[in-house]
Amino acid sequence: MTISAIGIDDVRASVDLALEELHDSLRKVNHEIWSNPELAFNEHRAHDTICDFLEKQGFAVTRHAYGLDTSFEALSGSGGRLINFNAEYDALPDIGHACGHNLIATSSIAAFLALSFALKKYGIPGRTQLLGTPAEENGGGKADLIEAGAYKGVDISLMAHSGPKKVFSDQGDAEGIAGTLMNARKKITCGFTGKSAHAGGNPWDGINALDALVSAYNNVSVLRQQILPEQRIHCAFTDVPKVANVIPEHTEAIWQVRSPSLKGLNGLVSKVRNCIQAGALATGCEVQIKE
Ligand SMILES: [Zn+2]
Repeated sequence: MTISAIGIDDVRASVDLALEELHDSLRKVNHEIWSNPELAFNEHRAHDTICDFLEKQGFAVTRHAYGLDTSFEALSGSGGRLINFNAEYDALPDIGHACGHNLIATSSIAAFLALSFALKKYGIPGRTQLLGTPAEENGGGKADLIEAGAYKGVDISLMAHSGPKKVFSDQGDAEGIAGTLMNARKKITCGFTGKSAHAGGNPWDGINALDALVSAYNNVSVLRQQILPEQRIHCAFTDVPKVANVIPEHTEAIWQVRSPSLKGLNGLVSKVRNCIQAGALATGCEVQIKE
């Protein structure tokens, strides 16, 4: 049987009813994760809470799946296509679940349960997978899972990320982050080393690390005219001189470079790297770049 033969309204109504019965226990799982924030790759309590819950619902769960201590996998259905849902559950250092990964976990669990229920009730061919994806604030847990083959054979991969209600102040009723670009991102840190000298007495003996940093920043500003509208480059000066009477010997900055695809990002990163190196070359500083 196909969904269209059954009628989508009927499916919706029975799925709603099934989830309504799980409402309280899902809420408990959500609060358990929210109240006990755990950092990347250390989400042991969240892992156990979700696995216990799924087993209680009658699902076979693979704990510590794909070589990751805090990942898990649950599968249901047979035949047809495979639809994956991703449950994130790590938090941010010092602030806890600011990003709402507890909500991501709960919505993915609910979606997995709803689809499992519908596949079974209507006898539709198809499979669904719930994957515990640790370390999404920091560490890239999904990258490890992809490499370990966790998404092999997946036809559709889904997840919902919570966000502020209003992101675009100039677009009236637009809500959520549907219009926000999800770019690939790389981080570059750079440190310039020159030679200190007295700025009033013998500045000609110095090699100015602040000039190198400012030149690098300005080189990137010039580059901006030729980058794609979707690409982003942003920077913070993290180590700069606090006095004006010394030719500064050392400065540091971090950059974030973003582009829709990894390929485009790598091209942009090499241009930014050139801008940074040019700042060093122009001023005679040494530069250390970490990507
Ligand atoms: Zn997030």
